[in-house]
Amino acid sequence: MKSIVIIGGGAAGMSAASRVRKLLPDSSIKVFEESSYVSYAPCGVPYYVEDTVKDINELVTYTPEFFIKERNIDVHTRTHVTSVDLGASEVSYVSEEGQESVKFDYLIMATGAVPFVPVKKWLENDNVYTVRHLEDGEKIKANLSKAKNVAVVGGGYIGVEMAEALSKQGKKVTVLEMKRIMPGLDPEMSSIISNYMKSRGVVVKEGFEVKSIENSSGSVLISNGSESERFDAALLALGVRPNVELAKYMGLRLGETGAIWVDDFLKTSNEMVFAAGDNIEVKDVVLGKKRYVPLAPEANKEGYVAGSNLAGMSMVFPGSAGAAITKFYDMEIGSVGINEEEAKASGIDYYAVKIKHNSRASYFPPRESIDLKVIFDKKKRVPLGAQLVGGQIFGRLSVMSLAVSQGIDAEKLFFAGIPYAPPFAPVWDSVIVASRIINEHVL
Ligand SMILES: Cc1cc2nc3c(=O)[nH]c(=O)nc-3n(C[C@H](O)[C@H](O)[C@H](O)COP(=O)(O)OP(=O)(O)OC[C@H]3O[C@@H](n4cnc5c(N)ncnc54)[C@H](O)[C@@H]3O)c2cc1C
Repeated sequence: MKSIVIIGGGAAGMSAASRVRKLLPDSSIKVFEESSYVSYAPCGVPYYVEDTVKDINELVTYTPEFFIKERNIDVHTRTHVTSVDLGASEVSYVSEEGQESVKFDYLIMATGAVPFVPVKKWLENDNVYTVRHLEDGEKIKANLSKAKNVAVVGGGYIGVEMAEALSKQGKKVTVLEMKRIMPGLDPEMSSIISNYMKSRGVVVKEGFEVKSIENSSGSVLISNGSESERFDAALLALGVRPNVELAKYMGLRLGETGAIWVDDFLKTSNEMVFAAGDNIEVKDVVLGKKRYVPLAPEANKEGYVAGSNLAGMSMVFPGSAGAAITKFYDMEIGSVGINEEEAKASGIDYYAVKIKHNSRASYFPPRESIDLKVIFDKKKRVPLGAQLVGGQIFGRLSVMSLAVSQGIDAEKLFFAGIPYAPPFAPVWDSVIVASRIINEHVL
């Protein structure tokens, strides 16, 4: 009987645990999770803060009791793994019962990511928050209930979602962003979003690099060195970094992005250890190099692949094009692959197509538009990336994601069977128009 220990009970860890249980019914599986929840959705936290989700437990897919009873997976919550001795195949952990250790045959590292905070001292201030666990969402919702004036530091996906959540709670929200809103999108796409955010009453300060955050008479004083502003609270959404402290301590190889290095089968540099989720780097399917992609679909699938391979299969994780989607009020925002800045920096011979189009037949309400930008490889006519802003983007982004990750060229994309009826799309949909432009104009 194999003994398997999994560190981290988030998307990757629990997906791996369930897969191992299915393939190795007789194995012993232990999961150690430092928070109170497993199999939970941090992605739902902004919607809990804005009150669309009323009960934090709705963000938990399966409880620890479910895993223990229904899947025979020994889940330990509020248990922090402090060290791993690879020579002795032993994991040490601390829980309310004290310090203990357990032996393993195989280990899966699923420790996720941690919020990036450039100056750790900022977190010592009252009323400064980051979002990682469900408990953070509970704390933010409770503690900010009386705050009137809140800063969101960072204008990426999580910053935009938290800005919407807090604005819907009737607060004055100021987003402070050192580059531009949604910095992974090109400037002209980003400006459509920041203008819309402003029209919804959010103050957006781009090019504002926060240099200091200090407590000041019950409020938070934030400065970029030349300009200071006072807020009741600040929420830091400055991106995430792979949680690799334990991996470093164990001597596991880290990759070029700073995340845990894994092979195509998600095995680490140690034969007995697999890794999955926001703590690893994977192949960038567009550029071929390694990329850090801390996203939920990737984490779930990586857990599935790591669990399958630990159980004896040979399943390759093919990499990722980083498809991501979010929204601010009625504006949907999504991207996949590389943007124009990255294409330029990589020296790629590319052609960028930009179109503004209706999301439905022009006569069908509500009249929403879509701004679509696609970066094509000029010679191969294959899309390398797409950015979409507007209404009803999910289907189009999914098609573009398939085309980018599978290398489907503009001609095939033009003839792809994209369905049509007035409430859903114009008969010449934006994706078809973008591929037609490439076919007609790029030789
Ligand atoms: C606010 C927010 C919104 C998001 N929205 C989206 C979205 O809309 N779409 C999307 O694709 N992604 C989104 N993400 C990212 C997504 O949540 C992550 O990609 C996903 O949760 C990663 O899963 P994981 O299992 O790798 O890591 P996690 O879910 O972070 O799980 C890792 C777990 O390991 C535990 N752990 C770490 N170290 C130890 C230790 N030493 N001992 C015990 N336990 C330990 C942690 O407590 C944690 O629970 C969002 C994230 C946040 C924070």
